[in-house]
Amino acid sequence: MKILINKHPIFAKIKSACKIRMMQNDLHKLHKSVVKLQSSSLPDDPTPGDCIKQANIPYGQNVEVLIKKLKKDLPVLPAVVIRLLNLVLDEKSSVEDISKIVRVDQALTAKVLKIVNSAAYGLRGKVSTVDHAFTILGFDAIKNLCLSISIFDNLVKKEQVGCFNKSHFWRHSLAVASVSKALALLVNYKSRDEAYVAGLLHDAGKLILMQIIPEEYSNYLKKLNSNPKICIGFEEKTLLINHALAGNLIFKKWNFPLSLQRAVELHHGTKMADEKIPDLAAIVSVADFICWTQGLGSFNLFIQPTLDSQMEKIINLKKVSIEPVLKTMEKELELNGKIFNFKLTEPEELKKSLQKANFELGRINTLCENIKKKQDRQIRALSALNNIAFKIRKELKPSQIIQNVLPEIREGFGFARLVWLFVDHEKKMMILSGIYGEFKNNVPMASLGWSWDNKIGFPLCTCIQNKKIIHLKQDDCADESNPNSYLLRALQSSELILVPISTDNIITELLLLDNPEGNTFISADTLHLLDILAMNLGMAIENTKLFQRNAQMAIIDPLTNIYNRRQLDSSLDNEISRSVRFKQSFSIAIFDIDHFKTINDNFGHSAGDVVLKDVSEIIKKSCRKIDIVGRIGGDEFLAILPNTQMQQAFIFAERIRVNVEKYELHAQNLCSKYQMTISIGIAEFDSARDNAENLLHKADKALYKAKQKGRNLVGVL
Ligand code: GH3
Ligand code: MG
Repeated sequence: MKILINKHPIFAKIKSACKIRMMQNDLHKLHKSVVKLQSSSLPDDPTPGDCIKQANIPYGQNVEVLIKKLKKDLPVLPAVVIRLLNLVLDEKSSVEDISKIVRVDQALTAKVLKIVNSAAYGLRGKVSTVDHAFTILGFDAIKNLCLSISIFDNLVKKEQVGCFNKSHFWRHSLAVASVSKALALLVNYKSRDEAYVAGLLHDAGKLILMQIIPEEYSNYLKKLNSNPKICIGFEEKTLLINHALAGNLIFKKWNFPLSLQRAVELHHGTKMADEKIPDLAAIVSVADFICWTQGLGSFNLFIQPTLDSQMEKIINLKKVSIEPVLKTMEKELELNGKIFNFKLTEPEELKKSLQKANFELGRINTLCENIKKKQDRQIRALSALNNIAFKIRKELKPSQIIQNVLPEIREGFGFARLVWLFVDHEKKMMILSGIYGEFKNNVPMASLGWSWDNKIGFPLCTCIQNKKIIHLKQDDCADESNPNSYLLRALQSSELILVPISTDNIITELLLLDNPEGNTFISADTLHLLDILAMNLGMAIENTKLFQRNAQMAIIDPLTNIYNRRQLDSSLDNEISRSVRFKQSFSIAIFDIDHFKTINDNFGHSAGDVVLKDVSEIIKKSCRKIDIVGRIGGDEFLAILPNTQMQQAFIFAERIRVNVEKYELHAQNLCSKYQMTISIGIAEFDSARDNAENLLHKADKALYKAKQKGRNLVGVL
């Protein structure tokens, strides 16, 4: 469709034409979300099928049964209406065709003549034949007149349901028909007559529902009266069916063209995200919206209309010149008011509803602003959550996680001060692992850890035990005897949150988020996001622990918990490089337990394991911090002694030999009589001649020498 209306700069003119100060162009879109929000929270919302339950109808809440009933009971459209409709929709029809139909229907003829001769048209001479009337009024006017008379007489006039006001309904239908026709011209739609018919009959579904389920419809109208909202969801929730679907059913039954069936079905939008809205449905929908904004709704209620965003995309409201559309509508309504005897909106009445609308819009605007602020906050928090998840996924150390996460939480959630605490379950203490933001007087952060058992620790302890977020507010803790108040006072905080982080199902960390001046908005949504954050952090920390465990396993001997052969080789290479570079000597010592096989044989393999562990412990304890100790394999150990010459190495080795000699097997419940000893071979690195292999070979030879000389000795080459 070529949208001519692009040339007509617009929406602002709705405002001036209607004298309604709409605050933002997107207001009605936002209003829609507000209506949704409001409707979801209103306490007197009906439960689905509410009115149907009240009416105690046999189909109960079964929408299928209801639709079947509608289909069965749908009224038949009188032949004259069908013929008139066909003619109006047929581009090739002529005055003669319409005249023929009217002439054979005496009631219609009388009606047409009565109206043409009435004050509505203000003609001078009397019009006594249909043909004369046609000549005076013209083809366009007469066909619309005949159609509207026959539809009114056959469908609308007889409706008498509860508080349904047929004048308002009919005035609305005629107004929508008129605006639809005008919009069709503006957007270059293929048939203005089709737009007129679609507008005139767009609410036919309401008539059908009123006719077929009058009791339920009457209940629905009562509810609408006490809680006005135009959203079609409310109708569907109440009646199980909405008038757009009911209209579609009847149009199908009456064999109306598909374009009309779809227009009436979709004039309030579609539930399916990707369903294409036909242009005719958008025309009717926008026309309906415009009429409601002008106080020309189908019910005598003040309701803020909403427009489906898809409709607005099709009929670009910002570019539609609304003034001429409204003028045409007003003119036509004036005439129709006289013909069908309904009142136009009085200026005073219009003023009142515009004032009300203005007030309502101000309120909605405020609500929208607040929703927007809330959304902005949530978007910030969600993007922080996303950034955090991205940043921590590859971190290998918990400290790196903490470093990355704290500033992100501060930015995304708006907390001024953050403290990351490590939970020491054994000591029942909280240990400070990270801090962001300033704490006045640095209390009591400087002295952390906090004990669980003191007053400050009370909420921390509760949080750890319950494994749930704790939200503390000054107001809740005004009473000094409240055990939660100590922490708030100690931190001089007005509000704070404790977020427990669990790894392997135990709370191992606590995140304390402080809102000192109460300048961050902490809602249930924020707490929910923090819960998700805690879960992510827990998983990331678990991963780092797993990684560290794996990394340890690669370099540590599992039995003795000292370095394994692989790590010793790499450490030896490093030490050689260092020694060459800094010209510092170093030595190594290889230890081998004497007759270890005998221990295994006499006391069992597990006793042998205990001995291996204890010997490794003796060696380790006798070393300096810079020395590197590991197990080469079996009962053989190696010590790399940086910055150590042969003489010092000898003293070191002697000390260990003596300590092993003192080792008492009986203390391990092994055997009191057995004397365990160890032999040691030492060698100093000679940078001119040695490499790792040579050096190990030299120490091995020295060890062999010690064994040869009778064991329990330190061998030197
Ligand atoms: P020597 O004085 O000549 O060193 O005699 P030895 O009996 O100690 O001989 P050797 O050092 O060759 O024997 C090492 C023994 O250590 C052989 C093996 O059964 C035992 N062994 C190796 N690994 C382990 C271990 O992990 N646990 C235990 N219990 N025994 C081990
Ligand atoms: Mg041995």
